[in-house]
Amino acid sequence: MDGHVRHCKLCQRQMSYSVFYMCIDCLLELEKVSGYVRRNPYSSIEEISQGTNLSKESVQKIINFNPRCYKVRKKV
Ligand SMILES: [Zn+2]
Repeated sequence: MDGHVRHCKLCQRQMSYSVFYMCIDCLLELEKVSGYVRRNPYSSIEEISQGTNLSKESVQKIINFNPRCYKVRKKV
């Protein structure tokens, strides 16, 4: 365990900000995604990506990282 250097859990970039597990960029993205999902539950990745101006890749990464921010209803 290294107490001095932290890496963002999401993008793996080294970060100096140590209060959170994520760098500030990823925190903002996570905020955007969870905010959007709160307003638009059961959105698809694509809708979230469009609504937040984040790439589908980033949205997917955020959701994988924090599934609680995303309630998906599986389309059958
Ligand atoms: Zn990050």
